[in-house]
Amino acid sequence: MLKIEHIGIAVKDIASSNELFAKLFGEEHYKLEKVESEGVSTSFFKMGESKIELLEADGPESPIAKFIEKRGEGIHHIAFEVKDIRAEMQRLKKEGFQLLSEEPKKGADNKLICFLHPKSSNGVLIELCQEIK
Ligand code: ZN
Repeated sequence: MLKIEHIGIAVKDIASSNELFAKLFGEEHYKLEKVESEGVSTSFFKMGESKIELLEADGPESPIAKFIEKRGEGIHHIAFEVKDIRAEMQRLKKEGFQLLSEEPKKGADNKLICFLHPKSSNGVLIELCQEIK
């Protein structure tokens, strides 16, 4: 894996969280994006080599709504950038990690993504991502 690409934070209200995090970082978010396939609205802040992604549920069935219901707002996942997502998925599967999808999906910010089940990684939801070129 190449680096921490971003850290995802689940929030109830992305508009007010955008203001809060802009105050915290001293810089506005640079992107807002709806990801229909995941049922979320996202915003991104630059953080040097990495990013912070805020995630708001688009409806009660969104995985983010369920996460907040169970655990409240807070850190939702850590995303690692990889060179070849399919090869990395194969490798991790062989190592016994549980993938949440068999094929990479189209995620926010022009990325192919795949999540690993937190059960197989000490309670941490891990996202692999590869830039689409
Ligand atoms: Zn993410």
